[in-house]
Amino acid sequence: MLLFPKTKEEWDKLGEELDSYSAEKVLEEIVKRLSNHGEILFLTAFGPEGCVILEILSKIDQAKQIKIANLDTGYQFQETLELKDKFENKYNLSIQIVSPELSVAEQDERYGKNLFERDPDQCCYMRKLVPLNKLLEGKYAWISSIRKEQTEVRAKSKIIEFDNKFQLGKINPLVNWTKSDVWKYIHENQIPYNLLLDKGYDSIGCEPCTKPGQDREGRWAGKDKVECGLHLQDTKQGGEYFI
Ligand code: SF4
Repeated sequence: MLLFPKTKEEWDKLGEELDSYSAEKVLEEIVKRLSNHGEILFLTAFGPEGCVILEILSKIDQAKQIKIANLDTGYQFQETLELKDKFENKYNLSIQIVSPELSVAEQDERYGKNLFERDPDQCCYMRKLVPLNKLLEGKYAWISSIRKEQTEVRAKSKIIEFDNKFQLGKINPLVNWTKSDVWKYIHENQIPYNLLLDKGYDSIGCEPCTKPGQDREGRWAGKDKVECGLHLQDTKQGGEYFI
């Protein structure tokens, strides 16, 4: 049995072993096998998938060892911030809020107002990628909520893989779930979710870059951008900074 994968090959092997496991079972195994070995981070923006993972973790003994964090870009919707409080209260959690080096006002001053309009890749790099890169320093693995259906990049993801960009293990427990799997689980388990999802938004990121729309069509609508860059493994959209 492969106890503590480190290299890409070892993570791939563990991925092959757990490939047919359910999301619940994958998370259980990860907690059982790996969380004593090094810190594991679950990063969430409180999308519907993230809410499902928080619920699953709440049912696993010892899952408290997993650190939970949210990247607060300074542009999150009020509804998203309120949902964080709801989860903290419901599951008695402490969710770490991670902020970029520059406040929005400082970024405006240094780079000009509304950088997200002129250069969203640079804005995502400073407000999301750099803070996550720092947060992952010294961590053993991270958990994400991505699903294959969401974008072409995510379609290539596996349930467990090695993250080339951040150079650690990456666990994507819901990677094979459909949107209806997610909503079925949310309704069956009465999990709180972002109220904007009832107002025509299917995917919620930063307020200036999110419009109502199906799936991810409301994210960076009208721009040639579909990913913030956290999940890109190639050199596009900020990836070159870390590999
Ligand atoms: S989603 Fe928009 S506002 Fe948020 S970090 Fe990226 S470009 Fe900036």
